[in-house]
Amino acid sequence: MNTLEYLRNDLRRIDGRGYPAYKDLRGNCYISSDATFELHIDHVQGDPFAAPSHIRIRLAHSITAFPDWSHSSKSRRIALENYLAHIVANACRKFSSQAGSGKSGLIDIDAPCQEVIARTALLYLDEAIEVRLNLGLPARGRRIAGREAARILCDDLHQMALETLIFDQLDKDEIQSAVETNEDADALRDQLKNHKLLAFVADGSILPRRSGIDQRPLDSDSAVPFQAPSSLAVTLDTPNRGTITGLGIPEGITLIVGGGFHGKSTLLNALERGVYNHRPQDGREFVVTRPDAVKIRAEDGRSISGVDISPFINNLPHQNDTTAFSTENASGSTSQAANIIEALESGADTLLIDEDIAATNFMIRDQRMQELVEADKEPITPFVSKVRALFSDLGVSSILVMGGSGDYFPVADRVICMDHYLPEDLSTKAKQIAEKYQTSFVDECKTFGSPSRRCPHPASIDPRRGRREVSVKSRDIHQIQFGEQDIDLSALTQIVSSSQTRAIGAALVYARQESIIDGKNGLTEILDLICTKIETNLDSLSQGYRGDLAVFRRHELAAALNRLRTLKVSPL
Ligand code: ADP
Ligand code: MG
Repeated sequence: MNTLEYLRNDLRRIDGRGYPAYKDLRGNCYISSDATFELHIDHVQGDPFAAPSHIRIRLAHSITAFPDWSHSSKSRRIALENYLAHIVANACRKFSSQAGSGKSGLIDIDAPCQEVIARTALLYLDEAIEVRLNLGLPARGRRIAGREAARILCDDLHQMALETLIFDQLDKDEIQSAVETNEDADALRDQLKNHKLLAFVADGSILPRRSGIDQRPLDSDSAVPFQAPSSLAVTLDTPNRGTITGLGIPEGITLIVGGGFHGKSTLLNALERGVYNHRPQDGREFVVTRPDAVKIRAEDGRSISGVDISPFINNLPHQNDTTAFSTENASGSTSQAANIIEALESGADTLLIDEDIAATNFMIRDQRMQELVEADKEPITPFVSKVRALFSDLGVSSILVMGGSGDYFPVADRVICMDHYLPEDLSTKAKQIAEKYQTSFVDECKTFGSPSRRCPHPASIDPRRGRREVSVKSRDIHQIQFGEQDIDLSALTQIVSSSQTRAIGAALVYARQESIIDGKNGLTEILDLICTKIETNLDSLSQGYRGDLAVFRRHELAAALNRLRTLKVSPL
């Protein structure tokens, strides 16, 4: 290993040479004179306008000196890593400079979001903290700017590490709050199952977001803090805050009703993101949902491959087989049916459905329509007829936002009404109304049927593009370019970071290359194998040291695969 001073001399020597001379630095590692700081140059960009180079910096724990409590459990360590990544992201803005042409002088980290999830951008390792950065190696025109490079690589990055990664330089209270909040949220989520709860929303939570495109909380003067109705209030224990009281949503079937604009969707959106923890001050720190809760929506136009949607849909025109249903272009109702069956296959135990984005003919079929169109002409058994059997047969609960129809009253275990953003328990009243109008009975099915199990064909999952053996990219959070195909993920609102999207793309490639998708493994085994792998080491998904990945759930991995238009499966 060479010293930073050696690198400084090297960079001065190549000053003014053509940009490709930077390539000699690739794979090198440099160390500070006191041996506490390391710089690794993993990838060197081809020219100053290309995607920036990849480097890693490491600061040894002999000087970071983080106390044990800040990283003593997995929960705490992930919170600390996310916290430090935020600090480094701010510092990147300060240390970045326009040091020449193109991306010269850019320093960038894959910044975390409101959700606290394991990421590869910053890692608290046994010996050191490692930060993975993108760096624009400086140039004048297309010639190496060696002096600027020496300043950035040998001085600025070291300085940045010393300012952001040393415990004594940081706000101890903020760190403590980050790690304790994360640990408490995990503890709350861990208790849900024992208490037969699907979700918990702490009193005082701030659910609304600043805007449709900004996940930060709405200003505290305009946001109404959450307050559970006493009949649904539960109190849970946390390791750091004592007890916390809030709304507990029990297993079974829960309706969220209320007037338009009274906060129904906002509550459901908070629940769908409650599968992840949130950073302090987010407002949803103690909104936690079962890890296997899956948001379901209609998604017309998606492709479907060999899904047994017969629990919901039968006798389609043109004798389309619905026990292994495939289409290039699903309708609203068939897409929603497939989304549910696929979620069951990937192991969902809770379904979250919002009327705003559900197919009406899939959700309900009122009495007048039943009279007009005879049952044998209607292929759809609406969700309302199956939602109970889904729970009694398979143990899968549902939380439904339904402001426009009372048809679910007879099948609901409880009804929460949002009134001026505050929940009320209207279960009893809704039951009475259901009894009063018994004629509009729901034709309830007693059984659900067992969900399909499928085996994906490896040849149908092909990452090649042109002459490249593997070409997988994602330009934004909702899209993966997989070989020649584009996978559209815009319906998957439980992907919360583009780092997860990239990791899902990498996982699909990994599953192909490591023969996890081998034509024998069923989809559920494939999900098990990959998710066990990423739980222990996210880096194993890719070669080299990518700093732009984050952990994802099995459900979103399955959903991405299910949306690959070339996918072929056989039943298991
Ligand atoms: P609904 O689904 O009942 O029609 P939404 O959940 O879409 O209503 O909420 C309507 C509006 O009210 C949104 O702009 C949302 O940000 C805002 N809102 C939701 N909950 C709160 C709250 N607790 N305090 C303040 N504003 C809120
Ligand atoms: Mg709504």
